[in-house]
Amino acid sequence: MLSSLRKAALPRIASAGQRRFLSIHEYQSMELLNSYGVATPKSIAAHTPEEAFQVAQNFGTKDLVIKAQVLAGGRGKGKFDTGLQGGVHLINSPEQAKEYAAQMIGSKLITKQTGAVGKICNAVMLAECRTPSHEYYAAILNDRATQGPVLVTSRQGGMNIEEVAASDPSAIITTPIHFRDGLSNEQALEVANKLGFEDKNKEAAAKTFQDLYKIFKDKDATQIEINPLAETKDGAVLCMDAKFGFDDNAAFRQQDIFALRDVSQEAASEVEADKYGLNFIKLDGDIGCLVNGAGLAMATMDVLKLKGGDPANFLDVGGGATPETVKKAFQILLSDKGVKAIFVNIFGGIMRCDYIAEGVIKATKELGLTIPLVVRLQGTKEPEAKKLIQESGLKIFAFDGLDEAAAKAVEVARA
Ligand code: GDP
Ligand code: MN
Repeated sequence: MLSSLRKAALPRIASAGQRRFLSIHEYQSMELLNSYGVATPKSIAAHTPEEAFQVAQNFGTKDLVIKAQVLAGGRGKGKFDTGLQGGVHLINSPEQAKEYAAQMIGSKLITKQTGAVGKICNAVMLAECRTPSHEYYAAILNDRATQGPVLVTSRQGGMNIEEVAASDPSAIITTPIHFRDGLSNEQALEVANKLGFEDKNKEAAAKTFQDLYKIFKDKDATQIEINPLAETKDGAVLCMDAKFGFDDNAAFRQQDIFALRDVSQEAASEVEADKYGLNFIKLDGDIGCLVNGAGLAMATMDVLKLKGGDPANFLDVGGGATPETVKKAFQILLSDKGVKAIFVNIFGGIMRCDYIAEGVIKATKELGLTIPLVVRLQGTKEPEAKKLIQESGLKIFAFDGLDEAAAKAVEVARA
């Protein structure tokens, strides 16, 4: 039970905790690749069915691919909430471009990476159709083991790379990259060789690997993934799909990239929380949690689970929360209609319990809180906090122990 919660929530919590993953759309990545001289199929975005028609009409060729622009992988095998199967389709007329665009834009695409709710598609990308003779996988990532960047490649690219990695790890080639010097010609050619590129394409493949690393380094990326990296019969090496991620800590010096952030692809409550410096992740349960510190937040979720409850979110208010940010946190928790109880679990170290109490009381009064509130406060300014709660006259269940508090939260959420 605990392990399943951790499995489900941890990757997202870790990513939110480190905040390292700005993603940009495929058509934006294609432009970035082209600006580094990396070959891609000619690609143009459209934001309405009419625009898709126009783009297709003026493309210069009628064999095109139309691709849903959502920030998630697995689009080819995804499904729209309207029933349309697949976020990638081959088309050959402007009418078809318009028809598909009309079915995609404004609908949600559900893929193995989006969760059941899917992600809204606000744009499509039209690309010239090129026929791969082979599909490879290539990515630049940071590697824990070598503590530096690596080039990860496979001859078995395409739509099932996760399965390949799981079932046949030997099909994945990992090449450490020198952080400053990048990939040498020899290294890059060796990878192209190992992957089995045709002789006439090896130079182009090697150059692509080198350029991908340049982008990775110049732009403070955390992920530069090309799948498929296609080899075509006419001797081209093309990046046919791109998933890029960028380090949020570098936002200050990558303003062009960060201007591309598309908040329509993020959960609204998470976007709102982010504005106030709150580390918030929405989950599916019914107990809203307000906690300080990522570790305590995880522990709180575990204890709730142990008591048979289900957390509605992960919320770490950090050490610098003020009564105002606490109130904001409450607003965000309460905007989720599925929340049946709120559990505040604060360990006051740097954080002052009385600030939390003040925020909680303020929020309860101003927001007209009607659902039960369970509070456990310990540490700095604890007596002051308890006094504030007592004198508030509000119906707040206050506890000293985590166990009893969690049990109460589960009980009142069910009642
Ligand atoms: P993903 O499913 O989100 O990774 O989307 P991709 O952009 O990778 O598209 C899925 C698959 O569609 C690719 O693996 C290709 O096999 C195929 N595909 C994409 N573009 C083209 C193209 O121009 N021509 C052909 N024949 N297939 C394409
Ligand atoms: Mn792909």
